Amino acid sequence: MAKIQMKTPLVEMDGDEMTRILWKDIKDILLTPYIDLKTEYYDLGLPERDKTGDRVTVEAAEATKKYGVAVKCATITPNAQRMDEYKLHEMWKSPNGTIRAILDGTVFRAPIMVKGISPVVKNWEKPITIARHAYGDVYRSTEFRIPGPGKAELLFRGEDGQELRQTIYDFECPGVLQGQYNKDTSIRSFARSCFQYAVDTKQDLWFSTKDTISKKYDHTFKDIFQETYEKEYRDQFEALGLTYFYTLIDDAVARVIRSKGGYIWACKNYDGDVMSDMVSTAFGSLAMMTSVLVSPDGKYEYEAAHGTVTRHYYKYLKGESTSTNPVATLFAWTGALRKRGELDGLEDLQHFADQLEAATVATIEGGTMTKDLAGLWEGSAPANAVDSAAFLSAIKAELDRRLA
Ligand code: NAP
Ligand code: MG
Repeated sequence: MAKIQMKTPLVEMDGDEMTRILWKDIKDILLTPYIDLKTEYYDLGLPERDKTGDRVTVEAAEATKKYGVAVKCATITPNAQRMDEYKLHEMWKSPNGTIRAILDGTVFRAPIMVKGISPVVKNWEKPITIARHAYGDVYRSTEFRIPGPGKAELLFRGEDGQELRQTIYDFECPGVLQGQYNKDTSIRSFARSCFQYAVDTKQDLWFSTKDTISKKYDHTFKDIFQETYEKEYRDQFEALGLTYFYTLIDDAVARVIRSKGGYIWACKNYDGDVMSDMVSTAFGSLAMMTSVLVSPDGKYEYEAAHGTVTRHYYKYLKGESTSTNPVATLFAWTGALRKRGELDGLEDLQHFADQLEAATVATIEGGTMTKDLAGLWEGSAPANAVDSAAFLSAIKAELDRRLA
């Protein structure tokens, strides 16, 4: 069979530890036998980041801006122990943080659902995608412990000399105080990313804040979303039969639990942090989640939501067999290949990505899976728990059957 040809290269960001091993296996077993894979390769593994003074991370992000689609392997964010282990020159920042700062986007996370592993919430039939604003609010706040009685004031001094000043509270005893901010530009790019992703994936968009209580701060989020919808997206939404729906965060929580799923839930930074862990846990496992960073100008970076699975890597180094789940990493590749196919008009590449995902789901639904899933399995026959290599081979057999 002739290999599928690509036009534009994918930006390939390699990573660390167990996911780096899976990365190569996925390419060797499931991609290069079928595709004449065109990538611009950046090694974001910790040794190379250290060698280049982390320049390689910045270059990879810049390449994503140029080509539009990237696929990223999980990477180590160094801490004191890693400084020692890898003899690092510096405690390099989180690559995800660096890439997000350059691309300026929103992170979308959705569960990969399979029959035989059911969500804790029994009426959830379709995935719920959380879109988290990853800038500002409590994550960039300034806070004090107030030692005793005194007046706390909020003051803004404009460059033109204008002053806004208001008493926050006249403290009669010790307490706490916090200042938060966000920027219209960041909120608008968050809104655009959410509406664009809803159009791309043909799903309704829900957005929630607490604007009844926070009449300026949260209300600004609500207004910017509404304005972006009216000016830029209403026509596309109506043409596709999609709904934009705003509601209060407490009402949203109740509706999400009662829903059947199948929509995007956009959340402010803190709400998204908390709700994404709740929703992903209720759906099953981090190894069964897709994750994509979408920038406001339509650049895409696909990744796995989990880390480098260090505990398994140390076993692997000792020569022990490991059963690490490659699904999230594999779906990062299929997501990126499908998007590249869409942008370049390559139907065979999109079809291949669809088939590879379907083969993966069918393999699990047929009872063959990695150990982490075997523990969640509710199928009628007992699960056949295999190591990562055997799992990838089973997917290949299923893929070949589908492509024949
Ligand atoms: P982790 O790599 O996500 O693994 C935590 C545990 O979750 C594993 O020990 C394993 O549990 C389970 N697990 C996660 N992914 C799995 C998979 N694909 N298959 C099977 N089990 C899986 O988190 P971590 O150990 O806290 O972090 C390790 C390194 O990853 C750190 O250096 C951190 O900086 C980095 N990290 C990177 C990213 C990223 O690049 N996106 C995100 C998070 C963390 P059992 O051991 O019980 O089997
Ligand atoms: Mg969190």
